[in-house]
Amino acid sequence: MIIGLTGGIGSGKSSAANFFSALNVLVLEADELAKEAISKGTNGLIQVVDYFGESILNEYGEIDRDLMRERIFSDHTMKSKLESIIHPLVGNKILEKMAESTALYTIVEVPLIFETNSMKNYDRILVIDCHQSLQLERSTRRDKNSQELIQKIIDSQCTREERLSIANDVIANNGSLEELESKIKETHYFYSELIKHD
Ligand code: ADP
Repeated sequence: MIIGLTGGIGSGKSSAANFFSALNVLVLEADELAKEAISKGTNGLIQVVDYFGESILNEYGEIDRDLMRERIFSDHTMKSKLESIIHPLVGNKILEKMAESTALYTIVEVPLIFETNSMKNYDRILVIDCHQSLQLERSTRRDKNSQELIQKIIDSQCTREERLSIANDVIANNGSLEELESKIKETHYFYSELIKHD
């Protein structure tokens, strides 16, 4: 079973993922897998260079992320092309890591599931939800960024309602970290029971 764990910036995804890691669960980060998929020496990188040209590489032969962001920002075709290279590679990596693991199920932390319409990649979607004021407060403290910048990022993401509309399971993270941990344990028990009765 693959669970997509998502939530807005500062909602508590990474904290939730860490609590799952402490249980018998394989926890993966979609962003990390995407970076690995097109890192130096990979077939993914060759595909990216074939399409975008050598100029997309920096002096170390790696993808120049700022330049890539700039290129795809205003060009939808390029963005889709990049996604069409990365997504299957990430999917394969998830399957590879699952095959190597003895964990009962897999959690993939994905910041943007609704926004990328990638619900179909997961058996269930778990949303970590909290009030926007907490998102703002926690992210500002964590990233030492201005409230304005964090608010801009929140506004660029889907709304809480949109995210909740794709959820199979929701964990409200409006209390303490201890409360979050105990909700993760309850959810883990629920998933373990689901697998047992599958
Ligand atoms: P995300 O991965 O969704 O961006 P994080 O898990 O990094 O969010 O949480 C954002 C910040 O808020 C982190 O510094 C984290 O330690 C803190 N945090 C998360 N949940 C709580 C909570 N329930 N109480 C207090 N701090 C929290």
